[in-house]
Formats: sequence, C-alpha cells, structure tokens
Amino acid sequence: KADTAMYYIKDRGKDNLIVYDHSMEEDTLKRVILDDNIRKALANEEFILQYQPIINVKSGETVGFEALVRWHHEQQGIISPAEFIPLAEETGLIIPLGEWVLKTACLQLKEWHEKEDSRIRMSVNVSVRQLQQRQTFIQTVKDVIEETGIDPQCLDLEVTETVLMESEQDIMDTLQALRELGVSISIDDFGTGYSSMKHLKTCAINTIKIDRSFVSDVTHSNQSRAIVKSLMLLAQQLKINTVSEGVENEEQLNRLLSENCQETQGFYFSPPVSAEEAKRFIK
Ligand code: C2E
Ligand code: MG
Ligand code: MG
Ligand code: MG
Repeated sequence: KADTAMYYIKDRGKDNLIVYDHSMEEDTLKRVILDDNIRKALANEEFILQYQPIINVKSGETVGFEALVRWHHEQQGIISPAEFIPLAEETGLIIPLGEWVLKTACLQLKEWHEKEDSRIRMSVNVSVRQLQQRQTFIQTVKDVIEETGIDPQCLDLEVTETVLMESEQDIMDTLQALRELGVSISIDDFGTGYSSMKHLKTCAINTIKIDRSFVSDVTHSNQSRAIVKSLMLLAQQLKINTVSEGVENEEQLNRLLSENCQETQGFYFSPPVSAEEAKRFIK
C-alpha cells in the first residue's frame, strides 16, 4: 500500500519484518531501528571505552579515570553516549551494554595495576535500570571483581542523583549491598537533582561529583560560587570526597582550589582518551 513501508531487521540471526504504516510515529520507527543497531553493535563489538583522568588538585597526580562509552559506528564514526544511552535504558539493552562496560573497564584497570600503578582507580557509570535488577546486578559486580581479580577498593560506581529519586529504599539497599562488596559509590552530577541532602544522610556515599553546570560559571556567578563553596564544606563535614566535573580553564581551577576542592576532572587536564593515551597520565 502507498502509505505502508516495510523494513527487514535481522535480530539474533533471524529476519524480522516490520510493517510500518503512517499511524506509527516516525519516531517509533527510528527507535526500532536504532534499538536493533545497538543490539548488533554489541554483538559486533563496536563499542569502545575512553578514559578521562581524575586529578588530585593538591598533588597534581592522576588518581583514577572515569570510563566513558562510545559507539564506533562503521559509517557514522564515533557516536556520543548521549545519543544512545537513553534509548538503551528504555529498551533494556543497557543491561548487556552496562555489563560490557563494567567488565572492559575492570580488565583495563587490572592491566594498569599490573603494569603501571597499583593504586589507580576506575569509575564506571551505572544506570538506574541496572540497579533495579538488584540481585542480578550485585552478582554481576561480584563476578566481574572475581573474574578480573581487581581490588574492589579501586572500583567506583557512579550513579546520578535522579537514580536515587526513583524507588528509594530498594536503590539504597542495593547501594548498601554494593558497598559491602568493597566498591565505592559516587553521586554523579550532584546538585542537579532534587533530594540530594536526604541521600547524603541515609546512604553510604563515598563521593559527590559536583556538576559541571556549577563549575562552568564558578568564576563569574556569585550563586554558583556560593553553591560550590557550600558543597565543599558539606562534604568536608560529612567526610565525603568531592570531584569537580568539567573544569575547563585555570581560573576555574584556582577558584576551586581556594574552596578546598580535592579532586577534579575536565578538559583543562584532558578530555576522555584511549587506554593507550591514558597511560601517559598514570606515569
Ligand atoms: P557523566 O558521567 O557526567 O560524564 C562526564 C561527561 O562530561 C562526559 O561526557 C565527559 O566527556 C564530559 N566532560 C568532561 N570534562 C568536560 C569539560 O571540561 N567540559 C565539557 N563540556 N564536558 C566535559 P560523555 O562522555 O559524552 O558522557 C555523557 C554522559 O553519558 C555521562 O555523563 C554519563 O551520564 C553517560 N555515560 C557515558 N558512558 C556511560 C556508561 O558506560 N554507562 C552509562 N550508564 N552512562 C554512560
Ligand atoms: Mg559519570
Ligand atoms: Mg557527571
Ligand atoms: Mg553529566
């Protein structure tokens, strides 16, 4: 029919026929195709990790890295996680993708521990969907620690504040169970959610990562400066570590230094880089 289009999609080796008529949102079709592509990309090992150094501002040393996923697409080149993580979260593909990220990052960490520096740390982003699969996720983390042989003290799991707002008690229990495996928990993009303080009180959080939006105008907004200052004091009182995200220039760094910032991450030091380039920072 004139208003009907058909698409063949290969799924796990099987051909599937999708009949698209115009009652279906164009958006829906795009999502079906993108979802299928993510599935294939996982099978074809098209995902890669880059690592962004996390710097101790006082010593200037690299203390760890944040693993950030990218999709190395045959035709489109490098695709940013902002383009596919939300969909992968919706469709559930984040579960296998997240597992791949965790395992790959831990294997890389193990290699660095053996060849470069045994104290270096690794931060891995974890999505709410992964945490919701409570027992499965805890088991996955356990398995990865065992299989790779890393010291769990060097592994840090980053969860965003919005994650903590979802199914509160369950998520808290999951984070607690993860802590018992020896890993650390960071709250990512801190300050952008709604119930930050409550979670600092009830949950065993090791680190808050102060969102880039505060850091980026810390030099010219009194409001942002006040917020950063207060967050640093709060963290100090609670004996929580801080990482300032998105430091892009020296003025921002100096301002953060004067507010007693401990660790930082940003383009001023380095963008996310390949594992090979990352070695330079460890050395
Ligand atoms: P995030 O976890 O907050 O990661 C920090 C993001 O800020 C990264 O973007 C990084 O490249 C960027 N960034 C770092 N320093 C600067 C700076 O100085 N200036 C600016 N403008 N940006 C800076 P990226 O790699 O595009 O990742 C975006 C988001 O995608 C991440 O935010 C995280 O929420 C998500 N993501 C990335 N990898 C994964 C993953 O493996 N799993 C999950 N669940 N989410 C991931
Ligand atoms: Mg992060
Ligand atoms: Mg962040
Ligand atoms: Mg962010």
